[in-house]
Amino acid sequence: MDIPPPQLPVAIIGAGLTGLSAAHHLALAGKAIRVYDASAEPGGALRTELHPDGWLIEAGPNSLQENPEVASLIATLGLESERIACSPAAKNRYIVRGGVLRAMPASPAAFITSSFFSVRTKFKLLTELTRRPLPRVEDLPLSAFIREHFGDELVTYALDPFISGIYAGNADLLSARHAFPSLWQAELEHGSLVRAQIASAKAKRARGEPSGPPPIVSFKSGLAALPRALVASLPGGCLELKAKVEALLPQPDGTWLVRWVRDGTTTTERVGQVLLALPAGALAKLTIGVPGLPTSLSSLDTLEHPPVTSLFLGYRRADVAHPLDGFGALVPSIEKRSLLGVLFSSSLFPDRAPAGHVAMTVMVGGSRRPDLARLPQQELLPIIQKELSSLLGVRGAPVFVRSTAWPRAIPQYKLNHDEHLAVIAFAEARHRGLYIGGTVRDGISMTNCLAAGTKLAARVTA
Ligand SMILES: Cc1cc2nc3c(=O)[nH]c(=O)nc-3n(C[C@H](O)[C@H](O)[C@H](O)COP(=O)(O)OP(=O)(O)OC[C@H]3O[C@@H](n4cnc5c(N)ncnc54)[C@H](O)[C@@H]3O)c2cc1C
Repeated sequence: MDIPPPQLPVAIIGAGLTGLSAAHHLALAGKAIRVYDASAEPGGALRTELHPDGWLIEAGPNSLQENPEVASLIATLGLESERIACSPAAKNRYIVRGGVLRAMPASPAAFITSSFFSVRTKFKLLTELTRRPLPRVEDLPLSAFIREHFGDELVTYALDPFISGIYAGNADLLSARHAFPSLWQAELEHGSLVRAQIASAKAKRARGEPSGPPPIVSFKSGLAALPRALVASLPGGCLELKAKVEALLPQPDGTWLVRWVRDGTTTTERVGQVLLALPAGALAKLTIGVPGLPTSLSSLDTLEHPPVTSLFLGYRRADVAHPLDGFGALVPSIEKRSLLGVLFSSSLFPDRAPAGHVAMTVMVGGSRRPDLARLPQQELLPIIQKELSSLLGVRGAPVFVRSTAWPRAIPQYKLNHDEHLAVIAFAEARHRGLYIGGTVRDGISMTNCLAAGTKLAARVTA
């Protein structure tokens, strides 16, 4: 009688949110898995630090958009009692305009009644409602796409700062099709982006879901609770930390050898399939394929990731004049300031600062000012202090500072992004059992990465 071969595990390379989400779903489906990460901690870009003096620092991402899939994952992981929604006190979204913070209108009615936008822009919004579906052939810069719909003022004072806040990028360079596929699709189906928004709200109500944007959430002990819970949901012993994968060698029998290194020692393991959940720069460095006939992902290294420095600053409450009654403030390029934006961290979620203090997170650099992100903390801090003094009435020096540099922060999906996608698709087509997902192709937010992991797992189990 033939003994069936033991099930070879699926290798997941990268234990950020993409890889951990894939691992979680594969483990739930009963698949054997091996997970490798080069760092000492899982979670990738999610880095929460709890300081004994009562500061809770998010050195990477600060908040998570909770769509129904994320809500269901939080419930499955038993994290509901840890989950915290963004405080109603943080509902204002400020934009710096003419050197002062002005609240962005939060609803279509507020858009019409507030004095933030000119009558011309309001009229443009109303006429946008009459646009018919347009089958576009050519991709175009995001700024040109939004300008066609809503005009210059909205690009300058809404899109530009929004893109700095999300991509740390430049709306003139990003691709409308790739950076905001939902808007691209909305135009295709409805013509008008406003009518698409109304239709989507209606559809959500019909499904019994709240019609507004998804809640913004975190966890009492910070975002790192999520990767921690994902790891806890995996079978014991499957996660290898400080394990840098260097090469993936496909074998004639359809299996793979994964070669990884820890502290100078190289290990090779046989697996059934390989999921790559790595950022572009790490993908570019991998050796994939048989010696002499490698498949190169090296061109992914040219996918631009501008540097960002995240500056977590703690102040005595009495030293900040602004009420900090909002999510934070974003800064349009036209304002020529030295920061991309500032999050009012202790207004967003409770227990981010000790009593009598407030915490802010300033983002610096991006494609607008990469030079600033490369400055040492002692040179950057006085520049930011001056900005915060003028914008928020901050007096004196911060009582707590934590600066985190991200030399390659967020991938910029530009007009040539199809070329990167083609390189990835080619590698997958050439090698059976190789699957690639994450920020390089599936979107840049944590919500996108969780979905990318779900998709990767589904491709293996299909
Ligand atoms: C400063 C900053 C702020 C952000 N703010 C937000 C926010 O507020 N909200 C939001 O939704 N998103 C935000 N993001 C984006 C979000 O954090 C990321 O897109 C997401 O966490 C990426 O997850 P990932 O698993 O795809 O990649 P990563 O988190 O980069 O994980 C990849 C993992 O692969 C490992 N690795 C690399 N090379 C190898 C190798 N050769 N072998 C083994 N392992 C390897 C790394 O150690 C890492 O753990 C922010 C990002 C940054 C940088």
